[in-house]
Amino acid sequence: MPSYPNSERLFKAAQQVIPGGVNSPARAFRGVGGQPLFIDHAEGPYLWDVDGNRYIDYVLSWGPLILGHANPVVVEAIARAAKNGTSYGAPTELETQLAELVIDLVPAAEQVRFVNSGTEATMSVLRLARAYTSREKIIKLTGNYHGHADFLLVQAGSAVATLGLPDSPGVPKGATQDTLTAPYNSLEAIEALFKQFGDDIAAIILEPVAGNMGLVPPVEGYLAGLRELCHKHGALLIFDEVMTGFRVAPGGAQEYFGITPDLTALGKVIGGGLPVGAYAGRKEIMQTVAPAGPMYQAGTLSGNPLAMTAGIETLKGLSQPGVFEKMVQLTTTLCEGVSAAAEAVGIPLTTTQAGTMFCFFFNEGPVIDWDSAARSDLKTFGRFFHTMLERGVYFPPSQFESWFFSTEHSQEVVVATIQAAQTALAQIAGH
Ligand SMILES: *Cc1c(COP(=O)(O)O)cnc(C)c1O
Repeated sequence: MPSYPNSERLFKAAQQVIPGGVNSPARAFRGVGGQPLFIDHAEGPYLWDVDGNRYIDYVLSWGPLILGHANPVVVEAIARAAKNGTSYGAPTELETQLAELVIDLVPAAEQVRFVNSGTEATMSVLRLARAYTSREKIIKLTGNYHGHADFLLVQAGSAVATLGLPDSPGVPKGATQDTLTAPYNSLEAIEALFKQFGDDIAAIILEPVAGNMGLVPPVEGYLAGLRELCHKHGALLIFDEVMTGFRVAPGGAQEYFGITPDLTALGKVIGGGLPVGAYAGRKEIMQTVAPAGPMYQAGTLSGNPLAMTAGIETLKGLSQPGVFEKMVQLTTTLCEGVSAAAEAVGIPLTTTQAGTMFCFFFNEGPVIDWDSAARSDLKTFGRFFHTMLERGVYFPPSQFESWFFSTEHSQEVVVATIQAAQTALAQIAGH
């Protein structure tokens, strides 16, 4: 049995000086009990905690590290860039290079503006949608998470769901009065909102594949239906691909499903492990952003040369021939292996996968929205989490998060994970 004396000591110290001991609530293990591991270092598919335990990692910094931890190409490029200075507050060619890569990969992207996080990306892209349409209402979906901006903390997923907070204190009523909500995967609910608020709705923002209530793919026809409804009512369709971008496919969910939104928010993989977000879309709309147009949005460290460099190397790496396909294939192998292990011991499990993202719900399924995701047996999830952790496999400490794959997760790593899952699930089933 592994033990964690150093993590325990460091967590105690952290709690004295940092609220809850963490700088983002999802890290705190509140959804599964116990306390977080403090990390010493990482390489490829592996993490090592401060007690010397090694784990196969399916969190990957919550998605960004699609080329694995400390990828030598990325790390060396960052080190070279750092020697030239870490920030100038003036333009560099690196920003244009990363923008060009994004435009090549992401169907909806004709122009790109870089920011520093996914939260900034969604906040800014919605300001843009409102500025461009001169309308104020937006629709967001239950269980979708778009970062922590006031007006988006309504029925949100991720740690908000894990903690059971429907909203957050400190968010003024006025901030959310123009945020309408609807369940994921229901076109009827969106139609009803358009009927009632038609000409006031600036945009629908959604995760095209929901990844913050566990992983929940869109049902057949859903994204196409949204595309049509937005056209019909003069509203913009915004895909928040902060998580799905460069992960469901190299061009994100919009490439995979062949549905092109008007605007897209990006984050996570786009910075390859450094803080980058972006919003992108039709040039005509993007020209509204200052200084090309009147909509103000700015950032002291936006387009930072180290972050741009990590992003460039990461997007180049994942779009090499055959690389993405191999990752998706091995992700499928892993999902099938874990599903079979659950079936063998009679534990109900619903497995979802979209490209290099995946998730396991402890219920009979189908999982199509927040309500059906929330019917997972959370106690069994918690036992699965801790039993796997003891066997050296680390995945998100919450049912309502996605698991992530990287180019460094080899066949061997996948087989080891499946074996750990077989033992863990048999133990949980009492075999
Ligand atoms: C992670 C995430 C965000 C927020 O990004 P941060 O970089 O954490 O601010 C927004 N939208 C989605 C879909 C995300 O998964």
